[in-house]
Amino acid sequence: MLSMDEFSLIDTYFKSIVLEREDVIFGIGDDAACLHVPEGMELLISTDTLVDGVHFLNQWDAYDIACRAVNVNLSDMAAMAATPCWISLALTLPHADQPWLQRFSQGLVDSLKPYQIALIGGDTTRGPLSITITIHGLAPKGRAIRRSGALVNDKIVLSGNLGGAALAVDLLKQVIDEKERDSLMKKLLHPIPRLDLLSFLCEYATSAIDVSDGLSADLNHILTQSKVGACLFLESIPIHPLVVNYEKKNAIDFALSGGDDYEICFTVNPKDEVKLFKALEKAKIDCNVIGVIEAEPGLRGKRKTGEIIPLQCKGYQHFT
Ligand code: ADP
Ligand code: MG
Repeated sequence: MLSMDEFSLIDTYFKSIVLEREDVIFGIGDDAACLHVPEGMELLISTDTLVDGVHFLNQWDAYDIACRAVNVNLSDMAAMAATPCWISLALTLPHADQPWLQRFSQGLVDSLKPYQIALIGGDTTRGPLSITITIHGLAPKGRAIRRSGALVNDKIVLSGNLGGAALAVDLLKQVIDEKERDSLMKKLLHPIPRLDLLSFLCEYATSAIDVSDGLSADLNHILTQSKVGACLFLESIPIHPLVVNYEKKNAIDFALSGGDDYEICFTVNPKDEVKLFKALEKAKIDCNVIGVIEAEPGLRGKRKTGEIIPLQCKGYQHFT
């Protein structure tokens, strides 16, 4: 605990920013928050921690750190086809730095408000800087999308493009064009959670995951949990244009192994493919078929020439 000031700190920077929601029976101020889950809905809960020096550098603006902490959690809800509703925040701070807290709190407001998400509680402690957010969301009963639902012959679909965030990390120390650096840093600092996909996932996806550790590693979670394998059409994987510029030779590696893009990779029954893409086109959402689920276990890549290459499922892993 952070001394006497702990409670005024909570009041000033967290309680004051709470957005009112009718389903919050009570939030910050008690030993636990109390929430209303509507009839016919199920509660989905997910936690993500950001640690100083691992997930961000402490020279980052506290505003960006807050946005990133919220957005990576929102991405988990998107991947489950759940609507995010409430977050709780466990914050560990080396000291009560008021300007830092002001920026952090503003980042929370700006990333929660567009989605009408309420901060319902948390914990504030002293120690090395770390931010843990638990997100709570709702999905209609039995309709949350899991990693285990992919079936043989399902098409593998990816939203957006890959590699931009990983390139941002790689180029941090290099001198590059200012505009290009800004656009890459935005990818890394402000990943946009793909909540625009919720209704499409809910209606069409057989499985889904958000790409946080790298496409091959994350898709592999779908494969093992669904007990299937997959073939990726290598030239069909959309790669961030700057990755192609800067890393022409390794572009596909950035796309397969680079993390932090927070796009959604999902599978769809081939009979629904045309309907799905018509609906996506109408909504002006960019998604592409990048592969197919197969019975043979493991992950392979196929070149336009027909050549098949076994792919390693590498991505970022703590403890290795
Ligand atoms: P307790 O001692 O019961 O764990 P605390 O004293 O830690 O409770 O917190 C008091 C209230 O403030 C609780 O309702 C808690 O949820 C809330 N709270 C504490 N820290 C935060 C935070 N960083 N953001 C939002 N709410 C917080
Ligand atoms: Mg208590």
